[in-house]
Amino acid sequence: MLKNFKGYNVFEITTKITEFLNKVKFTLLYLEETVFFPESAGQVGDLGIIQFNNKDYKILGLTISDDKVVHKTELIEDIEVGSIVTAKIDKNHRDLVSQNHSAAHLLFDTLRELFPTSLGKGYFNDENGLRIDMQLNEKVDWNLILKLNEIVTNKRQTTANKEEIIVDAKTAKEEYNLSIEFNEKELEGDLRIVKFDHVSIQLCSGTHVNNLSEIKDFLIYDFESKGNNIYRFYAKTNEILIKDEYNKLTEKEILEVSNLFDKYAKLKQQFGNDQNIEQALETFLEIKKDTLNFNWDSFLKFKIFINDLKKNMNEYFVQVETKKKDFLFNKYKNIEPNINGETKIFILEENGLENKDYNFICDLILKNNSNSYVEIIDQTSKMFFCKSNGSIKAFERMQEHQTFNIKGGGNEKTAQGKIIERKNSN
Ligand SMILES: [Zn+2]
Repeated sequence: MLKNFKGYNVFEITTKITEFLNKVKFTLLYLEETVFFPESAGQVGDLGIIQFNNKDYKILGLTISDDKVVHKTELIEDIEVGSIVTAKIDKNHRDLVSQNHSAAHLLFDTLRELFPTSLGKGYFNDENGLRIDMQLNEKVDWNLILKLNEIVTNKRQTTANKEEIIVDAKTAKEEYNLSIEFNEKELEGDLRIVKFDHVSIQLCSGTHVNNLSEIKDFLIYDFESKGNNIYRFYAKTNEILIKDEYNKLTEKEILEVSNLFDKYAKLKQQFGNDQNIEQALETFLEIKKDTLNFNWDSFLKFKIFINDLKKNMNEYFVQVETKKKDFLFNKYKNIEPNINGETKIFILEENGLENKDYNFICDLILKNNSNSYVEIIDQTSKMFFCKSNGSIKAFERMQEHQTFNIKGGGNEKTAQGKIIERKNSN
């Protein structure tokens, strides 16, 4: 416990300097009493100022030494032991940090309730948000995130008041059934229980809201796997920052999903449609109209929708690949050369194909024909592709092409390039 910390509900205090050290650019000082709460267990420390002789000096950092808060401030040149100063925290910053931190209690409790064997593996929170690392034997997906978010939101809306109880380790363990193990050691001495009615109870020395209604909003906006069954959950409680997350989603994902639908629209003309994707398109158009009215619920449901859609799209694209291969195989398996001499020359026009398709076509023809040369001209995307298994040198042939100027690279066997222009025919 901090010796000279004036409590969690005092935000400004006039007090004395008990010890100080001036460096070139900053001052380190101890105060008789302080309102500044330093970084603790992943929660960032306070911001604020020290006022002395009608001047404000910003707090640059806070640490703990000898159970007392060490204040690092902008250089206060004329300070002395015994000088009277006013210490003032940035209340807005404290509130934001406390809101995120208190929400972290709720999320941590919820994870522990759903997954009793889960273990906390790391924690951080500042004024913008929070993140919790948990080890759990369960695969995390957006459906689980939706459930977590729902439970935390329900807890937040109970408007439970905070209660703080100082107890010894034995009482914490036996009466309150709290684990007093921390990093494989048992905690000793006086401990602080932070309790929000029946909603949450934890041992903690951080700063918290007085009532859960002060947590204005809650959104788990992302998660990631860190390996070893450890998942990192990212959450925010500030309404404006959460709105930013909605906007980011709208910009990034809607563009990405629109591109997938465009790709699908082109393919379905040739390869047929997919019922799931057709339905998803309708849903997508509905959601798109409503992005301005996103809340955490619609945001997370949209995330789930996008993930399912991407899965369906991928399956469709795989099917299309197979169909496309079959189609190209049948189209080109028995093709006759355009020029049938000592060297057979095949000149093909295609469009909308990818490199792997060009390769597939050329390899198929060259496998069936010795001493041959195949070129594919794609007028739509202005691509040229050629391969040879005989005396014609692919790259030379492309460079000296009779009809087009082509810029590209290659070797004797294969070459490809961009069609720049049609050559003037004399
Ligand atoms: Zn706490």
